[in-house]
Amino acid sequence: MNCTRCGKPSRVVDTRQPDAAGGVYNGRIRKAGEVASWYTSDIVVRRRVCLDKHEWFTVEITTEDVTSMVEEGKP
Ligand SMILES: [Zn+2]
Repeated sequence: MNCTRCGKPSRVVDTRQPDAAGGVYNGRIRKAGEVASWYTSDIVVRRRVCLDKHEWFTVEITTEDVTSMVEEGKP
C-alpha cells in the first residue's frame, strides 16, 4: 500500500488486535479499530509508515464481515 500523502511505498510496523494488552500505540490502535470493532471483535489493525515517515493505520476484517456491515448500513 502506498502512502496516501506522498505516494511512496509503505511497510507495516505494527500488527495487533485492538484489545491486545501492552504496546506503545495501544490507545491509537484501539481508536483505529473502532471503524469495525462496533461490528466484530475479529479484526486486526496495522500501523504503516512510508519512506518519508508518514504514518497511518489500516484495519483488516473478513470479506464476509465487510459484506454484512455494508448490508446492515443500507437504508
Ligand atoms: Zn508518505
